[in-house]
Amino acid sequence: MTSKKKRKPVVDRAMCAACGECAETCPRIAITIRNGIHAVVDYSQCVGCGACAAVCPASAISMKMEAE
Ligand code: SF4
Ligand code: SF4
Repeated sequence: MTSKKKRKPVVDRAMCAACGECAETCPRIAITIRNGIHAVVDYSQCVGCGACAAVCPASAISMKMEAE
């Protein structure tokens, strides 16, 4: 079995200022700023490292445990 629990970043679109800090920080280049409005995470690329949540100046990203 390769499945394992991991954290995933959830963007609160109402709080996101579309600054792009998270996209620049992500080691997997998993975040894009869609239409210049809010950040969108590509969960197929995300490894759950939490770097985006740590860098977000608006605290718009929270790490949630992903259910198996
Ligand atoms: S948790 Fe890590 S890999 Fe996933 S989107 Fe954030 S910075 Fe990128
Ligand atoms: S760092 Fe935070 S405010 Fe900036 S684009 Fe990412 S989620 Fe939005």
